[in-house]
Amino acid sequence: AYKLPGQISGGQKQRVAIARALVNDPPLILADEPTGNLDTVTADTIFRIFERLVAQGQTIVMVTHDHGLATRFSRKVRIVDGVLDPEREDLAEEDEMPIVVDSASLAKDQAPAVISTGNGRSVYDGLGTTTANMGMPAIVLRDVVKVYEGAAGKFTALKNVDLQLNYGQFVSIVGKSGSGKSTLLNMITGIDYPTSGDVIVANQHIYDLSESKRALWRGKEVGIVFQFFQLLPMLTLLENTMLPMDYTKAIPAAEREKRAMQLLRMVGLEKQAYKLPAAVSSGQQQSAAIARALATDPPIIVADEPTGNLDSRSADVIIQLFTELAERGKTIAIVTHDPTLTRRTDQTVIISDGEIIDNTVAAALPMLDHPQLLQATQQAQRRVVQPGETILRQGEPVENFFMVADGQVDIVLTNAACQETSLARLGKGQYFGEVELLRGGESIASVRAAGDKAVELAILPRDLFRQIISASPETEDILGEVVAERLSENLARREECD
Ligand code: ADP
Ligand code: MG
Repeated sequence: AYKLPGQISGGQKQRVAIARALVNDPPLILADEPTGNLDTVTADTIFRIFERLVAQGQTIVMVTHDHGLATRFSRKVRIVDGVLDPEREDLAEEDEMPIVVDSASLAKDQAPAVISTGNGRSVYDGLGTTTANMGMPAIVLRDVVKVYEGAAGKFTALKNVDLQLNYGQFVSIVGKSGSGKSTLLNMITGIDYPTSGDVIVANQHIYDLSESKRALWRGKEVGIVFQFFQLLPMLTLLENTMLPMDYTKAIPAAEREKRAMQLLRMVGLEKQAYKLPAAVSSGQQQSAAIARALATDPPIIVADEPTGNLDSRSADVIIQLFTELAERGKTIAIVTHDPTLTRRTDQTVIISDGEIIDNTVAAALPMLDHPQLLQATQQAQRRVVQPGETILRQGEPVENFFMVADGQVDIVLTNAACQETSLARLGKGQYFGEVELLRGGESIASVRAAGDKAVELAILPRDLFRQIISASPETEDILGEVVAERLSENLARREECD
């Protein structure tokens, strides 16, 4: 409450704007994409406030691209090229068109360029054709801490963050509004500096560089799409796109304009190239910012909610583009709230309260909310087990919940009659120990490190496991099903032997 707008996150700004709109209790509220920068949980909270106001007799008119909200409006109106479509005032629920779409990108003659032209050539040949670095580390953060200091006191936005992203990876970064996503990106791009810790990007300790050297380095190595675009208002979209090429001289002068135009065509903005940012929609500004980020063909692209202002079709074009660029060896990291996008990335980094959630814990217990995942991350113990070593012995008590972080384990049933039968092999993100912890009793099988690779485990002690389960009914349900399945499998195998 006592911070300045410059000191809060994008989602927090949006919520302040909503609070301000409600302050005089007006009978009519107009909201232009009020949830575009919010995570789904926060967006839902805002939407529920709106629903309560509507129930009290207020009228709310809201522009949105969010399909998830579609069924909750009492009335939907579609607008295309400035014309309300009377036939379509009440959209059928199964209608797949966005509720309100960015008209320019929907018009047929301005449809975003398709990725592949069919003749084997791609409209963006000349982008990221090197795969030499594939799989090598592109971004490494070690023990990064960021403390903001201001009139409102100290605030720790990142706490001991360790992270590695490789070339060829397409990564999504998710987290609630204010969790530290933009701060994290600013550390990677060298726009802000960490309070302590190391940041190595493209093999360069970026904070060893002077500010001016870092700016030049950034222009060549990192393409950035900012949450609020940051296009220069006095330059056309074409000039904005040429800017990084002029600044870094990475592209020969004679080719810059042609290349900028090609990039704009690729994101569906050919016809807007000579307009100023203020003369186009926010979705078009966002697309232009994406074209600009690709201008110098940087190996790393970092984007803060790059599709937040786009209709679903334009967003799809961008994600397809990012996917292909990652396949060509680039590293793409995007902040997003959209679960349909995170599903299309190679890896999801979850950030909660300035800390990164362990991805083994997140994979094993996907129904936990972020604070619960954070608690489990903080308390999980790590153990490395050598190949062949026994982790649990059949008939002995079980004190922990085990999640496989790396390598594989064999679940083995020992029985006098038929010696050993293998029940299952578990890999990364899978778990064991839950049967005994939930049901009581000794271990119903032995567990052993499989293969010839050491196994890494993340381990939660019984009490914490119990506490987490009782706070998450969805997790309890899923684990209950797993227990039932594994028990009956175990019994069936025992009977086969006897
Ligand atoms: P988000 O995950 O929404 O992108 P940010 O990284 O922008 O979040 O912000 C993380 C936290 O740090 C928020 O609580 C925000 O209020 C705080 N913060 C961001 N910038 C500043 C600043 N310049 N001064 C003080 N606090 C800040
Ligand atoms: Mg942000």
